[in-house]
Amino acid sequence: MSEHLNDDCIFCKIIRGEIPSFKIWEDDRTYAFMDINPVATGHALIVPKFHTPNIYEAPEEWLGPTLGSVSRVARAVRDEVKPDGMNILQANDKGAAQSVFHIHFHVIPRNLGDGLTMNWDMVPGDMDEIGKLAENIARRTSDI
Ligand code: 5GP
Ligand code: ZN
Repeated sequence: MSEHLNDDCIFCKIIRGEIPSFKIWEDDRTYAFMDINPVATGHALIVPKFHTPNIYEAPEEWLGPTLGSVSRVARAVRDEVKPDGMNILQANDKGAAQSVFHIHFHVIPRNLGDGLTMNWDMVPGDMDEIGKLAENIARRTSDI
């Protein structure tokens, strides 16, 4: 597995456990965790355990399982947070506001009138709150 990872990548370090994360799901091909700068309550990220920068280069055999986990996590976040809707977002290159160059899918709960726009400022969340939410979502993700 580690042969697919990159020593200098922050998300590869999270997958390896070298940087802590609020993990909500993991299987042999994918890893999901809470975004620490949440744009909405329940904001989560799903990554393949394969270092690749973007949708242009990601091998199909890794995209399939990753989208499977996106769906699984989205359902768990929906059941936990009960938003009015959900956006799945994936950014490619700086022009699309990509800041971490290991492909990842954002699961972003939405509410009517939340005023959220495509590019948002990164503001650290309350880690205790994110940690508690992660435990609840992780339980649901395993049960789905
Ligand atoms: P992008 O802008 O590349 O689409 O999204 C990168 C996301 O990764 C941002 O939402 C940012 O908050 C998140 N992020 C960056 N560094 C870390 C980290 O160390 N831990 C976690 N959990 N999220 C991170
Ligand atoms: Zn990586």
